Amino acid sequence: ADITAACSLENPPTSEASAPPPVDTSAQASGKVGVILPDTTSSTRYELYDAPLLTEALTNAGIEADVQNAQGDKNKFTSIAQSMIGQGVDVLIIDSIDAASGAGVEQAADEAGVDVIDYDRVNLGGSAPYYVSFDNQDVGRLQAQTLVDCLEAQDIDKPRIIMMNGGTDVDNNAVLFAKGAHEVLDPLDEAGDIEIVSEATVKGWDVENAAPTFNQALTAAGGDVQGVLAANDDIANAVIGVLKDPGLDGHVVVTGQDASVEGLQNVITGQQSLTIFKDVTLEATAAAQLAIALIQGTDPADAGIVLEPFEDPEAPSHDLQAVLLPAQVITQANVQDIIDAGALTVDELCAGI
Ligand code: BGC
Repeated sequence: ADITAACSLENPPTSEASAPPPVDTSAQASGKVGVILPDTTSSTRYELYDAPLLTEALTNAGIEADVQNAQGDKNKFTSIAQSMIGQGVDVLIIDSIDAASGAGVEQAADEAGVDVIDYDRVNLGGSAPYYVSFDNQDVGRLQAQTLVDCLEAQDIDKPRIIMMNGGTDVDNNAVLFAKGAHEVLDPLDEAGDIEIVSEATVKGWDVENAAPTFNQALTAAGGDVQGVLAANDDIANAVIGVLKDPGLDGHVVVTGQDASVEGLQNVITGQQSLTIFKDVTLEATAAAQLAIALIQGTDPADAGIVLEPFEDPEAPSHDLQAVLLPAQVITQANVQDIIDAGALTVDELCAGI
């Protein structure tokens, strides 16, 4: 059967996480908050969404925001944190490169009496009281279920699937994405309805390794592959690049994540079947409001922030309260939702195509 990567499901799978009530953004506070993001290469999300939206959410609340990016360098991450602590920030919001260095920053912050919020990535073994992210296991489930649905919609018999994980060696999110995906794929694999031909990891989310890693997996599979579970849009784009050589691009169902411009354009042009939209406005707003609650010593619930204990078998023993937001599947059928959510303008989305 001839597969088309373009996938327009009538009823795409939806998140099991419940949509939070709108957060009250009327609270104003004075103070200074430092934000440290991990890199600019593993995903464009940090420059495209996180940095501007965190700056906006904090400054709108009257907070002085210092938003920096560690460019994938753990030493740089630590020295940015030290300098922010030295400059007297009230709260640090950190999206770590890995949990060990993130936990180190938390310890230094603790000693200086600075509160820390884990942003997007949790620091297992750390000490931050709060964690703001998406339901990451559900993200993996959504990717895998949509992949399977897209193949099924085309009557592909026993599709062969390659899993391309992100940085499971450094990022608990990546572990959860893969876990959620396995929850969907493993029973189908065991029942003989699909075949997971291999599972590879792009270590450290280092996107430069994505193409060679996938190339090897594709070659080992003899080029006979109908679906690729790519952990994010950047890995998906590398996969699509490799698929072009044997002329398979547009004929393999490829997943993604982050609603990056490139990822969405690959969806629109029919090379990538889906991306996962995580509304960073909600994530940035929740983090900013939590920072304000910490500065003012108020209960986050007063701002409408619904916190739940973060439970993960490998989670740190300390009491961690989390906001885990729902994510949304985007296929060719509902790209408009990205515009409607105000994440991108039509001009931004269509730049260059
Ligand atoms: C984020 C993803 C991102 C990946 C690589 C994860 O922790 O949740 O959105 O694509 O890191 O930067």
